[in-house]
Amino acid sequence: VKPTVSQMVHYVSYGTPGGEYTSACRAAVVTGVPADDRRREVYGIGLFVITPDGHFNNRDTHYHEGEPLKPGETRRDLCGNRDYAGGTWHWPERVPDG
Ligand SMILES: [Zn+2]
Repeated sequence: VKPTVSQMVHYVSYGTPGGEYTSACRAAVVTGVPADDRRREVYGIGLFVITPDGHFNNRDTHYHEGEPLKPGETRRDLCGNRDYAGGTWHWPERVPDG
């Protein structure tokens, strides 16, 4: 599914090397999408990222589909049992109704 302007996605923040902050999914609004798909692969999309402490704009954000965790694996489970690279975006985890 292609992102379009005004949609909500997840932006993955970077953790700090010392561990003061861990990488996390943040709410983000899509602010810009290249009209040409090939440009999207090169430049990514624009996001307005919202965190509990503030907000910022991020250009050239690339998609990352995440890496699935195996049962019992202790890597970061950011959302949907997947680990995502910092500085990328993905679709929010779908939560079943009820
Ligand atoms: Zn997420």
